[in-house]
Amino acid sequence: MIVGLDIGGTKIEGVGLDANNYETLVVHREPTAKNSYSEFLAAVMSVIDAVSQHGEIESIGIGCCGSVGNDGLMQGANVSVLNGEDFIGDIQKQIDVPVAIANDADCLALSEYKDGAAKQATNSCVAVIIGTGCGAGVVINNGLVTGLNKLGGELGHNPLPNFNPEVDGHPHQCYCGSMNCAESFVSGTGFARTFAEKYEPQILERLWPSTKEGMKEPLSTSICIVISSLELWVQL
Ligand SMILES: [Zn+2]
Repeated sequence: MIVGLDIGGTKIEGVGLDANNYETLVVHREPTAKNSYSEFLAAVMSVIDAVSQHGEIESIGIGCCGSVGNDGLMQGANVSVLNGEDFIGDIQKQIDVPVAIANDADCLALSEYKDGAAKQATNSCVAVIIGTGCGAGVVINNGLVTGLNKLGGELGHNPLPNFNPEVDGHPHQCYCGSMNCAESFVSGTGFARTFAEKYEPQILERLWPSTKEGMKEPLSTSICIVISSLELWVQL
């Protein structure tokens, strides 16, 4: 059985596939533990253990927030307890199989480019994912652009275009250290914080309709910068 893990700021999902025909054998999901790295790692191993009940694991592929830097340690994850840790090394101390990891938005971009929403694109595409954070993956000339420091395509940490406190709410320092990153506004957590600042503490049934209207402009202007700089074909 080959195993895929999708690790984000809200949940960890593990999928076990038959190694021969890629049939889905098991799907298991647990909340992401974010208070400490040891709790986070325990949650990941708990998902792997649950999946392993359905077959012998041959290899594990992980799509994760953040990336592995040139020093082999995690960086740029919105699950901040993960940053600076030897995540792959710590998994392999507990299970002796090949483990590969890539940024989740990079995984999305490659997947959509090969046989998904961007399969009509001739040689390049950008994929944007909005969840707990805001990530992006860039494919140029049939290859993923990971950058010198493995932080390529991190659209969410560009400054929010045309930031205006009257429209966008209070200035906000991102966990990356920069002020007014797009992700601080264009993400699930950003939508909720901005809504609470503008109106009242979160009332979920009112949050989404307001978000759809209020967030169109920051989202579209953030994406337009990438589209125009790379001169991309657009498919929504
Ligand atoms: Zn940032």
